[in-house]
Amino acid sequence: RQKAGRNNFRFYSPKINQRANQQLQMENDLHKAVERNEFLVYYQPKVDVSSGQLCGMEALVRWQHPESGMVSPDDFIPLAETNGIIDAITEQVLVQVCGHLTRWQEASLEPVPVAINLSPVQFKNPQLAGKIIKQLKKNNILPKYIELEITENAVADNLAATIDLIHELTDAGFSISLDDFGTGYCSYSYLKNFPVDKIKIDRSIITDFTENTFDAAIVNSIITLADHLGLKIVAEGVETAEQLKFLRDLNCHQVQGYLISKPVPYEQATEFISDPSLINGK
Ligand code: C2E
Ligand code: CA
Ligand code: CA
Ligand code: CA
Repeated sequence: RQKAGRNNFRFYSPKINQRANQQLQMENDLHKAVERNEFLVYYQPKVDVSSGQLCGMEALVRWQHPESGMVSPDDFIPLAETNGIIDAITEQVLVQVCGHLTRWQEASLEPVPVAINLSPVQFKNPQLAGKIIKQLKKNNILPKYIELEITENAVADNLAATIDLIHELTDAGFSISLDDFGTGYCSYSYLKNFPVDKIKIDRSIITDFTENTFDAAIVNSIITLADHLGLKIVAEGVETAEQLKFLRDLNCHQVQGYLISKPVPYEQATEFISDPSLINGK
């Protein structure tokens, strides 16, 4: 992407000019969205394969845009990562999740751990761990209810600092999941240096693995590796009963995907917690 001030727009083709304007517009809108609390957390359940029980949920943010309606995170998180707005969004997600966890506890429901996504760029901020810990304390939420999902890109820039941050988080009692596993080039080497508790096999590997022997071999080897390292393993993007059956035969611990449920709003997540039989994981 070209970096240029306003005055340089005349060098752009009209189409690029238009896109740059759209980007500026969205950036303005994102700032307003933070002020107006337009972000909404949805929850996608995770199910334990052997018991069929709800065992966790992933918090996935949506933007309720006043004109455009619900905006998908893929359409605004990348921009928010380039201009620093991601920190404010993560904070609002965390506050909302803490609020929901509190309401579940007040309703005498035993909440399942909620996984929160952290962007790789956030690991450049040495205060990240401290801020998360403070936020949870302020809301009286125990760290056992929060998992943090990170991707291996988080370390691309600064391995040592990232490892320190992750240690700070695990020392405080949070569990760490390595997200989108199997898509990078050095997946295995990160495992050696990272104190992670869980690996999430990326949806792109799960999509065809029941037909594709190469992907099947990858899934199999990731699960075997995780077993040897004592890590929990989650398969993402499970859409068919056949995929679930294969994963069960491979002793995959947990699954997440449309077969179980799409991400749902707070009210429906509450129903899942209070009546696990609504979960489609048997
Ligand atoms: P992700 O962390 O890999 O999250 C999983 C995405 O896959 C979610 O998309 C989820 O709705 C989708 N998904 C789950 N099961 C299935 C399935 O069976 N089939 C298909 N086709 N898709 C499935 P979503 O909610 O649109 O989020 C997209 C990405 O945006 C996330 O990918 C994550 O990287 C990012 N994201 C979402 N919320 C946050 C957030 O609060 N903070 C940060 N930093 N990133 C977020
Ligand atoms: Ca994730
Ligand atoms: Ca993922
Ligand atoms: Ca992903």
